[in-house]
Amino acid sequence: MDGSELSMETIVAISTPPGRGGIGIVRLSGPEAASIAAQLVRLRQPLEHGRARLADVLDGMGSVDEDVSSKNLEEYSAGAKAQVNSELASARLKSCPDTSCLPQGVLPQAVKSCPDTKQVISSASEERIDEAVVTWFAAPNSYTAEDVVEIAAHGSPVVLELLLRRALELGARLAEPGEFTQRAFLAGRLDLTQAEAVRDLIEAQTLTQARQAASQMGGALSRRVGPVKAALVELIALLEAGIDFAEDDVDVTAEAEIARRIGELTLPLTALEVSFSRGRIVHDGLTMAIVGRPNVGKSSLFNRLVERERAIVTATPGTTRDLVTERISLDGIPVEMVDTAGLREGLRETLEEAEQLGIARSREALADAALVLVVLDATQTLNDEEHRLLEAVQGRPALVAVNKCDLVKAGSIAEEIGEVSALATSALTGEGILALRERIMALATGGAAAEPGMLTSLRHHQAITTALAALEDAALANANRIPHEMILLDLYRALWALDSLTGQTTSDDILNLIFSTFCIGK
Ligand code: GDP
Repeated sequence: MDGSELSMETIVAISTPPGRGGIGIVRLSGPEAASIAAQLVRLRQPLEHGRARLADVLDGMGSVDEDVSSKNLEEYSAGAKAQVNSELASARLKSCPDTSCLPQGVLPQAVKSCPDTKQVISSASEERIDEAVVTWFAAPNSYTAEDVVEIAAHGSPVVLELLLRRALELGARLAEPGEFTQRAFLAGRLDLTQAEAVRDLIEAQTLTQARQAASQMGGALSRRVGPVKAALVELIALLEAGIDFAEDDVDVTAEAEIARRIGELTLPLTALEVSFSRGRIVHDGLTMAIVGRPNVGKSSLFNRLVERERAIVTATPGTTRDLVTERISLDGIPVEMVDTAGLREGLRETLEEAEQLGIARSREALADAALVLVVLDATQTLNDEEHRLLEAVQGRPALVAVNKCDLVKAGSIAEEIGEVSALATSALTGEGILALRERIMALATGGAAAEPGMLTSLRHHQAITTALAALEDAALANANRIPHEMILLDLYRALWALDSLTGQTTSDDILNLIFSTFCIGK
């Protein structure tokens, strides 16, 4: 997408979530943002950069009426556009007869006000329907680096839609999801990792996730990659110079020097790659299935971990028929726990249909979960189904809780399970629950600690692994004394991968895909 083409249009969206609330914000961005805003509401004072201005939202704006509210917004706006065209032309003129006072790119702060916006006062017959606070952020000192106006009215969907429709009539276009952030990216205000972090911050479910997103938004990841990229460019320049001046007796860089430099590039990138094992689960969270035969205490353990009663606990075997899922925050990482129906020895015909369904779901949950918590009963010996279950989880991230350890010492059963890491717990007394949480975390993160600028998305991870693979090829080529032209090809491939991380060489398709995952109005 071409940035200059984009910025010709003024976009508008309701930036607050759908539904009712104390405040709702309509946001405009683009060259016409200020003049459209001045016609949308009756400003009590002229707009001034960075200053909140009180304004009246007026009812009876002629073309917007009750009948229209059910129509498709875009369809309506197209029809209404023609109708209001002439009004609009005169309104625009009226709004700011002195065009020099309209926001136009980079102007000194002192003249960034639009005194004539006061004149845009609609006819006296129009009733005030709401009061709003209007803030103008003049280009380039705004989120999008374009002129931005935010109209904060009361959070009434009806009022916000009225404002939106009128903005469309006045020439704005409905913003695509993420288009405000996309414009900020295209203007160079944010790199791609920072833009993605905006979305992550909005979607964060835990404070840890929000902190991670904030650090990435502040450029933590870009700062880790930046020096590597600079060193890579330096190496490329060195080899290019060697090729260009080969006939002029310029010293060709020695093989050992190239190897050293590639090694220096590889080290920080490998550290970044490793950070993905924790970064990924901080970002995505994980699913943990709790499995075991009926009555071993799965629901009770689940409740202990959730720390409030959620699953129905009962002494009758096999009553946790459905999957009960709950999201908890372990060390700031969202863990979706799936409490499954008890796994029974085979499917006997006497089992109720509901329970069979429960068992089928249990197996599904087991297949999908990143982690498995097998719960055994310390008072019982292992049955066949449990032996099969323990075999099934061999080789995958699994923990075994030997529950009801308050009733009996878990020694005998622990011996039976052998190598699988088992932990004695009591859902009744709370014994072992803290250790269980810690084990879950250690297993989930692979023991990796949180660090600034972690890789959190698959896209980032792919870029780093591509760069690393290219560097490995370059190192191999260098060791085999392959001509520098060939080594350069590998180095450029690594550079391209690093550039794609920050968005310098990311294709439009990928960009559109990324921004389409944002919400509208951001
Ligand atoms: P599930 O069918 O595996 O989900 O088992 P429940 O969580 O429903 O527990 C079955 C019964 O065992 C209930 O009566 C619980 O109170 C009891 N129970 C669960 N955990 C423990 C424990 O650690 N110690 C003791 N003494 N009883 C427990």
